[in-house]
Amino acid sequence: MKILVAVKRVIDYNVKIRVKPDNSDVDLTNVKMAMNPFCEIAVEEAVRLKERGVASEVVAVTVGPKAAQEQLRTALALGADRAIHINTSAETDEKVESLAVAKLLQKVVEEEQPQLVILGKQAIDTDNNQTGQMLAALTGLPQGTFASEVKVEGDKLQVTREIDGGLQTVALSLPAIVTTDLRLNEPRYAKLPDIMKAKKKPLATQTPAELGVEVASKVTLLKVESPAERQGGIKVGSVDELVEKLKNEAKVIS
Ligand code: AMP
Repeated sequence: MKILVAVKRVIDYNVKIRVKPDNSDVDLTNVKMAMNPFCEIAVEEAVRLKERGVASEVVAVTVGPKAAQEQLRTALALGADRAIHINTSAETDEKVESLAVAKLLQKVVEEEQPQLVILGKQAIDTDNNQTGQMLAALTGLPQGTFASEVKVEGDKLQVTREIDGGLQTVALSLPAIVTTDLRLNEPRYAKLPDIMKAKKKPLATQTPAELGVEVASKVTLLKVESPAERQGGIKVGSVDELVEKLKNEAKVIS
């Protein structure tokens, strides 16, 4: 079984986000970038399926600038066999919308014919949570989103999904699309020898034009603002004072 895993380059989750002074966008100057955490979970699941002998090949794919090859190398160090970089031009790298990514991934799915495609449930930069669902619609493949458990049984896939108020289990026919939730697994760290070996693994590059997909954005970003700074707290001397302040200053109780 071949598994295709989509990984996205995003700002590292430990970084405190800065907004550009003119509020035109998030400031990416000298900011540490990393693989989207949900994509790490996707790579881990694919590699575990390979280690269990269920999968025979794991292919990682990203859509992004040349620098996104770093995240592909990370996927290769974590156990993917080869990688595909769909190189978007510098001005559009952060602006490629989910639908364009899904259309590009659709082309890769048509070329590669994987039995399973694993994506993150969302990318932590734009929090869109839609690429997997769009890819399912475009390819006509069944989808198991927000997966916390994935079991392959012959040509069927059983996916336990995290939904409001509990867990839902669905059975899908392969080929299928899965998006990962936080509890699916705990991703491993790449070991130094694997990072070295990953440098020699195959990485192919394609462009959106070669795949016949238009990636120009149809959305105009009007403004980006930081959340309001939290005001410092105060200590009150008694419960009566607290109640008085909640009533008359904060006006949250009457
Ligand atoms: P989103 O719908 O943008 O929140 O992203 C959900 C998932 O889609 C991510 O975790 C990735 O698996 C995949 N994805 C989104 N954007 C890209 C991209 N530029 N390249 C590769 N995969 C992506």
